[in-house]
Amino acid sequence: MTIFKRIINREIPADIVYEDDLSLAFRDINPQAPTHIVIIPKREIPSLADVTAADEQVLGHLLVVARQVAEKLSLTNGYRTVINCGPDAGQTVHHIHVHLLGGRALGWPPG
Ligand code: 5GP
Repeated sequence: MTIFKRIINREIPADIVYEDDLSLAFRDINPQAPTHIVIIPKREIPSLADVTAADEQVLGHLLVVARQVAEKLSLTNGYRTVINCGPDAGQTVHHIHVHLLGGRALGWPPG
């Protein structure tokens, strides 16, 4: 079981900023920006490489949640969403997630 599933199950604590039937959003434990939120589906999908047409609704939902959380946390000057997939992208938790980063100017391209 991944650490994110344990957060969904409330087996380990997290600073949760949003929850609904399909998704959960919480503060990253190792923030890379003043605001760094992780948005996950409650359905266990390991990575973007595993998604199918059956996941379209939940994947779209994660971006709608990203917008709602960005608004709630007053990221009025912009923000970035990131989905790391696989070893080259540095994915460390194998439960698909959208990073929401903001609160400072972010460099581009990423490393
Ligand atoms: P990835 O590198 O897989 O794209 O992102 C995983 C993210 O999950 C990392 O930014 C990491 O800091 C965060 N993370 C890992 N374990 C925990 C945890 O137990 N709690 C929280 N809140 N974030 C975690």
